[in-house]
Order: sequence, then C-alpha cells, then structure tokens
Amino acid sequence: MPEKNIPSKIIFATNNLNKVIEIRQSLKEGFKILSLKEAKINIEIDEPFFTLEENALQKAKTIYELSSQPCFSEDTGLFAEALNGAPGVRSARFAGENASNEENIDKLLSLLPLNNRTAYFKTVVCYISKTGIKYFDGECYGKIITEKRGSKGFGYDSVFIPDGSEKTFAEMDIQEKNKFSHRKKAVDKFIKYLNG
Ligand code: IMP
Repeated sequence: MPEKNIPSKIIFATNNLNKVIEIRQSLKEGFKILSLKEAKINIEIDEPFFTLEENALQKAKTIYELSSQPCFSEDTGLFAEALNGAPGVRSARFAGENASNEENIDKLLSLLPLNNRTAYFKTVVCYISKTGIKYFDGECYGKIITEKRGSKGFGYDSVFIPDGSEKTFAEMDIQEKNKFSHRKKAVDKFIKYLNG
C-alpha cells in the first residue's frame, strides 16, 4: 500500500555527494532528504552481496536500525553486454578493493572489445519506513566509448553515452543527465510511491 503520510525528512544512506546532488534535483515535491553527514551519521557501509537489491537493503537497513527514521539507499552498477554483465554489482571495486574511478574505467576500456560497446546502468533504490521495505529500479541503456570525454559527474560518466544523445554523461550538467538517468528513473518511481 502506498504511504498516506509523506515523511518531511528522509535520510539518504550514502556518503556520495554526487548522488545526493543528483537526487535533490529530482525532488520537486517539497520533502527534504538528509545526507548521512547532515543526519550526523558517520559510517561506511559495506556492499558485500551479489545483487543491487541486497546491497541497497544492507545500506538502508543499517541506517534505519541506527536512526529509526525513514531512510532510503541506492545501489548502482554498469552492466556491459560483451562482458556478460561485468562490472555489474562490482562496479565500484572492478579494478580492486580500493580502486579509483580512473582505475575502474581503465580496466573496463582494456577489456571491452571494439565490436560490442553496449551497456546499461541500473539503479535499485531501497526505502525503509515503519510501513516496511520497498524497492524501485531504473535503467539507462547506451554505449561505452573508447576514450574518456567530459569532466562533470562521477564514476563511469566520462565513458558512457546514453541512447538518444551524442554526449557522455560527463559532458552533461545534472539536469541533462537526469533526462536519461537510471537513478532519476528509480527516484521518480520512489517519489510517485510516496505521493500515493
Ligand atoms: P555504488 O552504487 O556507489 O556502489 O556505485 C558503483 C559504481 O558505479 C561506482 O564506481 C560508482 O562511481 C559508479 N556509478 C554509480 N552511479 C553512477 C552514475 O550515475 N554514473 C557513473 N558511474 C556511476
């Protein structure tokens, strides 16, 4: 059942400021999200599982248990067709446990064959409140280019061109990225749910 009362504040279980900024752009409906820092929660949460859903649940559950406040998390992966879905759920750690974005991108570019650059991002949002646990997802299909382009965004943005655009995500401002974005699609479903 959709919620009857929209909480005025919802904690977003992430330390990734880029994600907070992107999601804030989607929130026009008058409710507020707090980053972990703003909620004064100082914690790094592991993502040990093999699905986006399990990792998102782990993050949201950890923060819900700590705060007893409505909260949501999201987990995202980039799935390349020619690599049977890799880097996938391991996108953040593709080149090793503490790999940088640059190292992850370099590994991806070194493995991808030239004849198949098809890939998609998928985001799973997990929301926990007193009424239970809900999931919302969003996907964005596109292609991986052979060299980085652009300086905005984060993660794999500089090598990903969404279908329907000529630009990489890293060449777009947030509003433009949000016209295509996996995260925006998942968050829109979440907002729709909150609005009943
Ligand atoms: P996580 O959801 O924070 O675990 O992200 C997994 C990996 O995907 C990290 O390397 C992120 O930097 C990357 N990532 C997540 N969302 C995006 C995005 O919207 N664009 C590009 N890379 C992303």
